[in-house]
Amino acid sequence: MTEKTNKLNRQEKTEKIFSIASNRGFFFNTANIYGGKAGFFTYGHLGKSLKNNWESLWKKYYLNLDENFHEIQSNSILPENVFKASGHIENFNDPLVECKKCNSRFRADHLLEQDGIADAEALSIEEMNNEIINRKLKCPKCGGNLIDARQFNMMFPIEIGFAGDRAYLSPETAQGAYLTFKDEFFATRSQLPLGLAIIDKVYRNEISPRQGFFRLREFTQSELQIFFDADRINEHENWKEIENEILLIKFANKEKIEKITCKKLNSSHKIPKFYIYHVAKVQKFYLEIVGIPKEKFRFRELNEIERAFYNKIHFDVEIDFGTLGGFKEIGGIHYRTDHDLGGHQKVSKKNLSVNIDGKKFIPHVLELSFGVDRNVFMLLDIFFNKKENNTILKLPSKLAPIKVAIFPLVKKDKKLIRIAKDIYKELLQEWDVSYDESGSIGKRYARNDEIGTPFCITVDSDSAEKKDVTIRNRDDGKQKRIKITELRDVLRKLISGEVSF
Ligand code: ATP
Repeated sequence: MTEKTNKLNRQEKTEKIFSIASNRGFFFNTANIYGGKAGFFTYGHLGKSLKNNWESLWKKYYLNLDENFHEIQSNSILPENVFKASGHIENFNDPLVECKKCNSRFRADHLLEQDGIADAEALSIEEMNNEIINRKLKCPKCGGNLIDARQFNMMFPIEIGFAGDRAYLSPETAQGAYLTFKDEFFATRSQLPLGLAIIDKVYRNEISPRQGFFRLREFTQSELQIFFDADRINEHENWKEIENEILLIKFANKEKIEKITCKKLNSSHKIPKFYIYHVAKVQKFYLEIVGIPKEKFRFRELNEIERAFYNKIHFDVEIDFGTLGGFKEIGGIHYRTDHDLGGHQKVSKKNLSVNIDGKKFIPHVLELSFGVDRNVFMLLDIFFNKKENNTILKLPSKLAPIKVAIFPLVKKDKKLIRIAKDIYKELLQEWDVSYDESGSIGKRYARNDEIGTPFCITVDSDSAEKKDVTIRNRDDGKQKRIKITELRDVLRKLISGEVSF
């Protein structure tokens, strides 16, 4: 095995992942037969299963952080006033530059970042224009001159009904939770903290969605809005549980990732305990539940200019993507203060404050926000492995789209086929499993390694007599014989991670 056969450069890895994605059914360009449209993808059968599994894992973990965290479902279409109150109509803009010659459009901050300016997002429009002129930037497509950058609102406007009432496709799930807060507060016995989670489609008219699956115009977010009493921000009932945990953080305006305990983050950086508790839980989710290697994970603290004006504290969750050439955002932890409920109270003129033990106040919001599709893409990027001429997707079993593949060793042996199909039908009651009788056994293993199937079961000539089968572990190719009657129980333990192979 040479180094060359095992390591792919960034472009080769990207091409390989995209080819597996479309050949095997993870995702495809939407409306391919009409030439597709940038920023829109369709999940195939494996991709949809992977996405479902990620969403289930997310729900199970985050809803269990507190007994008063619940999932709700709101709407993708919301009336204009919602976005007046939230500030999206005024502020949900990206800086657009256009080529005078070929009319191609780009995000000004992205062009400047490609030219070496770190965090260009933080510059004002005037500063961006000055930099574009000073650096003599031209259109990356045709070399033409660029028109001055201007703000471009990223929401999709629509009209409702005959009267044509102005509304928008929601660019984040969060607003649905803010609009429902007061109803849910009463429905859940008027207690704080109250967490409202939404997993749903959102829509952003991104200027240049050119990073494949990473920057989409229609995508899914999983967000948890935690409403709490701001006077209690420096406490959490389970603080002791996490206070000595070490967090991996790249602080604002610093170059290196620092390892810092929750306790120290609280005492020397003055980040409140309620916020830190959730940072620690997000890190635990990625490192322990999903299994992301430590060196590929970090939080990035955003400085005052980079973060939205209403976010008092903002840490992004970043993953080092081999395909994207470095750390990229997949989520964010935002302390949004009372900006949201306060804004809706002002515009709707409805009282959104609560009264707890005689104290009347507008709750503050801590938001845990994740892009589901970016997380799905992260799984493909992180768990992709090359082995000689084959690839293995070493997905954690609980996330794998197909948990078990069942093969009869010989295609023509009716007895083996019957046993294999019986096993297939039995396991299907509990998991997504597949049955495959075509090609050599080696090819069948390779096909399943490529899509991340953790276990393959082969029914061979001994199976009828001994009532056992071979089970093969994806990650090291090791095989064991196991009684058919014990199969389901053993698989249950292997898939849940209760035992290792
Ligand atoms: P970016 O800086 O990459 O544009 P953002 O800071 O605007 O993202 P948020 O508004 O905080 O993102 O949205 C929360 C999460 O939604 C992000 O962390 C990301 O995972 C996901 N997300 C945002 N924009 C997109 C997009 N265009 N396509 C796919 N996922 C997205």
